[in-house]
Formats: sequence, C-alpha cells, structure tokens
Amino acid sequence: MEFQTRDDVSTGNEEDLFVPSDDVREHLVVVGNGMAGCRAVEELLARDGARYRVTIFGAEPHVNYNRIMLSPVLAGEKTFEDIIINNQQWYDDNGIELIVADPITAIDRTAKTVRSESGRTVSYDRLLIATGSDPFIIPVPGKDLPGVISFRDMRDVDTMLAAADAGAPDGEQGRAVVIGGGLLGLEAAHGLTLRGMKVTILHIMPTLMERQLDEAAGWLLKTALEDRGQTILTGADTAEIFGQGKVEGVRLKDGTLIPATLVVMAVGIRPSVALAREAGLDIGRGIKVDDHMVTSDPAVLAVGECVEHEGNVYGLVAPLWDMCRSLADGLTDQHSGYKGSVTSTKLKVAGLDVFSAGDFSGGEGCEDIVLRDASRGVYKRVVVKDDRVIGAVLYGDTADGGWYFDLLKRQENVADIRDFLIFGQSFASGGGALDPKAAVAALSDDAEICGCNGVSKGQVVACIEKGACSLDAVRGTCKASASCGSCTGLVETILALTLGEDVQSGPKTMCKCTSFGHDDVRREIVAQGMTSIPEVMQKLHWATPDGCSSCRPALNYYLLCALPGEYVDDQQSRFVNERMHANIQKDGTYSVVPRMWGGLTNPRELRAIADVVEKYDAPMVKVTGGQRLDIFGIKKEDLPAVWADLNAAGMVSGHAYGKSLRTVKTCVGSEWCRFGTQDSTGLGVKTERMTWGSWMPHKFKIAVSGCPRNCAEATIKDFGVVCVDSGYELHVGGNGGIHVRVTDLLCKVATEQEALDYCAAFTQLYREEARYLERTAPWIERVGVDYVKARIVEDDVGREALRARFLYSQSFSQDDPWAERAAGEHAELHQHIAEVRPMETV
Ligand SMILES: Cc1cc2nc3c(=O)[nH]c(=O)nc-3n(C[C@H](O)[C@H](O)[C@H](O)COP(=O)(O)OP(=O)(O)OC[C@H]3O[C@@H](n4cnc5c(N)ncnc54)[C@H](O)[C@@H]3O)c2cc1C
Ligand code: SF4
Repeated sequence: MEFQTRDDVSTGNEEDLFVPSDDVREHLVVVGNGMAGCRAVEELLARDGARYRVTIFGAEPHVNYNRIMLSPVLAGEKTFEDIIINNQQWYDDNGIELIVADPITAIDRTAKTVRSESGRTVSYDRLLIATGSDPFIIPVPGKDLPGVISFRDMRDVDTMLAAADAGAPDGEQGRAVVIGGGLLGLEAAHGLTLRGMKVTILHIMPTLMERQLDEAAGWLLKTALEDRGQTILTGADTAEIFGQGKVEGVRLKDGTLIPATLVVMAVGIRPSVALAREAGLDIGRGIKVDDHMVTSDPAVLAVGECVEHEGNVYGLVAPLWDMCRSLADGLTDQHSGYKGSVTSTKLKVAGLDVFSAGDFSGGEGCEDIVLRDASRGVYKRVVVKDDRVIGAVLYGDTADGGWYFDLLKRQENVADIRDFLIFGQSFASGGGALDPKAAVAALSDDAEICGCNGVSKGQVVACIEKGACSLDAVRGTCKASASCGSCTGLVETILALTLGEDVQSGPKTMCKCTSFGHDDVRREIVAQGMTSIPEVMQKLHWATPDGCSSCRPALNYYLLCALPGEYVDDQQSRFVNERMHANIQKDGTYSVVPRMWGGLTNPRELRAIADVVEKYDAPMVKVTGGQRLDIFGIKKEDLPAVWADLNAAGMVSGHAYGKSLRTVKTCVGSEWCRFGTQDSTGLGVKTERMTWGSWMPHKFKIAVSGCPRNCAEATIKDFGVVCVDSGYELHVGGNGGIHVRVTDLLCKVATEQEALDYCAAFTQLYREEARYLERTAPWIERVGVDYVKARIVEDDVGREALRARFLYSQSFSQDDPWAERAAGEHAELHQHIAEVRPMETV
C-alpha cells in the first residue's frame, strides 16, 4: 500500500502545492482522515464529483480505515489491510490530495487558511473539521507511564500486540488491566485475552456497560466473561498506576494491587475540539453545528464525534452517516437537514450476543416487559411508553434487535401486538414460525441493515436495483455486509426478495452459518493457524453460535486434516454412525463390521463373530460388497460389549460407517488364480494396513485386482490397482454409487512399494484438497485428472511430501476407536434413553 507520508510533502509556506494552475474550483479542506471526514467526502462525490477540489489532512499515518474494526484486528480476526475503507487508489482516482501524519495545528479564519504541524499552510474556501474524539485519561498518578494507553487507533492496537507478544518479565504470560467496562473496554479485554494475556477489567460502576445494559443483562455479561477467564472487578476505583520507568501495576482505592505489563484506559471519549476552540468557533460539549453541519462560521463545517448538534454528541458511527448525508446535501445546495439520531449498540465480542437501543431507564409512565430464559441464557427487556417502544435490551438472543430498533425509530403504535411483543417478531406477527423472508420484507426502507457502514434497507434495495446482483456486488457498491459480516443473512434475503430467481450466487458457501466457501475456510484455517471449531467460528464470523450439522463435521474434518496429532477430534461434530462406530439401521439398532485385512479371515475371527452373533442375539450376518462380515441388529447399549468381545479376538473397527477408508477389496491373485500375475491379496493387505483409520472428506474405497480381468472391480473404486505383467496400473476417481464412474488411469508403476507410495500420496492430496462430503469422483471431475497427475506423477518431490504427510498423519490416527469405547470412554453415548410414561393420575 502506498500513501503520502510527511516526508513526501514539502514543508514551509508553499501554499496549494498540488493545485493545477487552471483548477478554479472551490477548495474543500478536510481536517481528519477518519470515518466521518472520509464518508462526508464520499457522499459529496456521489452527489457532485466535480464541484470541489478536495484536500484531506490526517494525523495518523494511514489511508482511511474502519475504526470500529480495530477490535477484530486486535483479536486477530482481521488484518489492517482487511479494514481499509479507501485505499490510495481511491484518493488518486477522485483527485483528492491526501496528506497523512501531519496534523493541522491552527486555523486562521480571517485568512481562510490552515497550518499543519510540518509547517504547511493551505488556503480553503470551505473547511471541514472531522477530528473525532480524544480518549479520556483519568488523572491518576502514573497515567503517563510507558505501557499506559487508550484504545483509539492503529498505534494503540500495535502497542497492545507488542505487549501481548512480550509477555511478563518473569517469562509468564503478560498481564493487562483494562480500566473501563464499557463497550470499548470489553472489546479490548476480549482481544487481549485472545492474544494470550491475563486480563483484569476494572469497572467503577456496579455492573458492566451500565449505559447500554440494565443490571440483569450486565450481570449475565459479567458471568459469561468470567467463564472465559477474565477477572472482572466492579465498584473498582483506581487510585494509582505504579511502576519504575514503565507500568508495573494498578492500585485501587481499597488498597488492592493488580500487577500489569499493560494498562488500557477505556473510560470514555471527549469530542476533539481544541483546534476549533483556538479558532474561535462556538463550542459546547462539541463544536456546535446546525442541521447541515455548518459551525458558527459559515465557511467552516464540522462532522462526526467532534460535533454537538441540538445539545447532543454521539460516539457511534450510525449518527455520523446521517450527518454526512446532510452535510453533503448542504454542500451541493440540497436541503435535507440532520434531525438527530437514535442509536443502538452491539458488542463485537464473538459468542456474546448483546444488543441495546434507546432508553431503558424506565420511569413515570413506562412499562417494562421482561423475558428471562435461564436455561438458554436469554434475557430480553422491552420498555414501552404510551404504546410505543422506547428502549430494548437483549442478551443471548439478539435476532429481534433490528425489529425492536425499527419499531422504536418509527415510533409505531404497538398496542395490538403488546402481548406478544417480547416473544419477537415472529410471534407478534401472528404466532408460529415466521418466514424469515416475510420478516425482512416487513422492514421499513429506513431500517438499518448494516450498522458498521450505516446502510439502510432502502439503500441496499437501491443498489440492487442499479445492478448489484450478488452479495459481493452489494458489498462492493453500498458496503452493506462488507465489515463484520453479521448482517450478511439480511442482505442475502433482501437480494432474494428484490431479484427473485436472478440472484447471482457467489462462490457457494459451506452452509447458512457462514459466507465462506469450503476452500476459503480450509485456506484460512491453515493461514491463521486456527486450532478449534469455536476459534474458526469466531474468527470467520459464523452467523450462528454453534454452527449446524453441515458445518460442524466439515470443520472437525478440516482441523483434523490440518493438525494431525494436535487437534483433538470433536465427537459431537460427527454424524451418528461415526459417533457410535457402527451403522444405525432403520429399526434403530446398529450393525457392526469388524475389519478383515484385505478381505481375509481365519477360524478365530469367524468364531468370535459367531459368538457375538449368538450372545447378542444378532438376527442377521451379511457378507458386504466390500468382502467383510456385517453383524446386524445390535442394540445401542450392547455396542461396547460387542466391541470388547471382538477386540478380545484381535479384531478392530472396520470404519464401515465413517467418512474414512472403508475396505481394500482384493481378488485371490497369483497365489491361487491361474491368471493372476501379482499377489493382489498380499498387496491389498499391505494397502489396508497402511491406510486404515484415516479420516477422509468422504468414504474411500480401494481395490486390488491380480490381473486385467479385474475381479476386485478396481476400476470403480476411489483408488484401484490392476496388476499387469509389467507392474501395476493405478486408477483413481471411480465410484460405484448412484452415478457410476469408471476410474481414470493415473499411471503405471513397476513395484509394489511404488504402488503403495502413490496410493499414500493420492490419498493425502484428496484429504487435503477435496471439500467435505465430496467423493474422489466429483473432486477429480472438478479439478481435472491432469491436475492430479501433475501433483502425483510429474512432481516427484511433491508426491514424496504428500506421502510423508499422509504417513505422519496415520501415526496418530491408527488407534482402534472400539478399544477406547469398550474401555468405557463416552459411556453416556450408549446409555438407554429413559422411557417417558404418562404420569399416574393422583
Ligand atoms: C476500537 C473502537 C471500536 C469501536 N466500535 C464501534 C462499534 O462497534 N460501533 C460503532 O458504532 N462505533 C464504534 N466505535 C466508534 C466509532 O469508531 C466512531 O464513532 C467513529 O470512528 C467516529 O468517526 P470520526 O470521523 O468522528 O472520528 P475518527 O474516526 O476518530 O476520525 C478522526 C480522525 O481525525 C484525526 N485528527 C484528529 N485531529 C486532527 C488534526 N488536528 N489534524 C488532522 N487529523 C486529525 C484523527 O487522527 C482521526 O484519524 C468504535 C471506536 C473504537 C476506537
Ligand atoms: S482379477 Fe485376475 S487374478 Fe484376480 S481373480 Fe480375477 S482373474 Fe484371477
């Protein structure tokens, strides 16, 4: 990324350095390259791109970025590059001069010039002040020690990351104290915890986020954060920050000492008005502005957190977007006028759903409607006055937040739905499960869809009607869903409602829980070094708290494949057959298939199977298509005992139920058959011994035939070997299922060992690159057999690396799951479910 830094621009009194001599347009100078300053310019360009010559001064050394996404950057969920709103190209394309790392230090309103720290003086026709806020620093001793910071910009994030990396002087994990249990403090604490710091939050009030949440919701939030390992001290009054040359800890007024290598002050913000005050503009709590954001000087405008409008100052983005629209209207002689904003808040801490809007303090004439569902951890409170919603607090289930906020903003009369209001939109709209599409269709045009970028439903619809026919196109045009992604589902529904069948699906997503496709998720798991399902869901902004039956098994597999020996398999994310290590049948009993290597067996195994059949009353034994014996009709609670008996006879689980290597089918080959050229049975046994136990994207079958007569049907298997006079033909991608597919010939090799090596490499390539539930046949059709040949046959080094990774992974996965179950692990899975009988009449 390239942008101008202070060194790139000249200093001194060279006025209007960048102005082409023939540019006679009015010059708009913007002080502050933050969210409001840049958005105001964007709005202006959208109305009349040619009208003003624009110069923007920024104090920070960056192009315009999304400040609210600093929390995800701190938490490691996004990079700085991900949160850039406008890159240098945008400034260049729009002819905007951007001067960064050079704050404006003085405004001369008589001469109509601004002066920067580096000594530049630039004249303006209109000046826009968008200096944002200054973090409030509590005036305690030690506040200036190195290691005491606020949470405002990218530099603060870098300081926090460095502190987390450095750890504590004793080599232990670093300790952070966050002063302030509001929105910002909690997000900082969350990020620092994820970065490995031991975090204590000090909050002076009795409950967290007391300005947004009522006591009950604040308590639930505190409990949830403590469960995540954070220490939270409420009613905690800081007396001093101590340390020799750098911060070492915090002392509270009650004498408590808390060691710290980093102290983050997140106790509030104040509009940044020093520059405007010096220039003699009218200042209240912020720079006073009218409905078009004009200050007491008609040539000077102000927008964003630094302003005061009708006595109000704001600390969230949604009002800024409204202000910017009115400002741009005013600058282009349209007269809409800003009327103030009602705000809502969401906490960006993954897995904690918190929403609050309006006034919930209650009082004269207010009615509180409260719902508590302790077992689900859900708390909802809606405050109604004169049959209108005036406030809402939601914890644990915030799905209806947008709806309450819409009712609140529109001041709709809710008398008719009063009794159902607390149960949410679906109930209030007539009971039962509401079609989610109908719910979105019912939202008004000015309902906010994307809080991060201030985009309303009407704006999303307008951008779709102008041709944005896919999620990506909407993201690229009106920015809805382009930041934290929590509104992606809503945007997709609006797309579907507006376009009907014409929605262009982007890359297919894994499931409704995410906007990422399988390949993206796999790539990100490796790139970001994710190690658990909750981490993936959190970092990739899963739309559901725990995922669904589609994504959980897939994530479990992807992590298992990416982190052999490290990732602990999540049993709960497996389908029932894999959880039970047996196949569930239509009557609810299970069938069990012991492994018979290469399809061979012996009297001891046959006796053990016969004994199990008799002992557990199994009604049927069947020889499977893969040459194994399948024992049917085993009750769930008998499974551990059946496995124990089979284990005792030396038999292991056949994985006949898993997305894994099933069987290696063989023919009798040269040992017995008159036509056999090679020992297909022996090679089959070796192949099965090498590949058993490996989890795959889908079931995987292998066969070895002793001659081209192919009695083991190797050419409809995922990996097939056909022995020929001069060696071994290797076949891949066959399928005998609904869509029969004959294999592609991969190559011919001369030795048994090569056949085994190629098999391992091919299996690993499939394991690493196919999508979950994609068998080899569709995978090969998707990527092309030439690609597979290039990776396995033509790339000796790559093949060897794949083989090595496969064998490494096998060194962890060849444990017999029956053995541990038979020993009593996960016993609860096999318990008989209690029968429910009608209660006896008393
Ligand atoms: C970590 C974090 C998380 C947040 N999360 C949310 C959220 O989830 N939802 C929400 O609605 N809001 C959130 N906010 C608040 C939101 O970011 C602000 O409301 C918004 O950024 C304000 O925009 P602004 O342009 O007024 O100020 P800013 O974005 O702060 O921009 C002001 C810019 O002006 C520059 N500047 C200041 N003085 C000068 C000068 N003299 N010369 C040149 N440049 C100057 C500053 O360096 C800064 O870059 C969050 C804020 C932070 C810090
Ligand atoms: S494939 Fe060839 S070797 Fe194997 S059983 Fe059939 S005929 Fe015999």
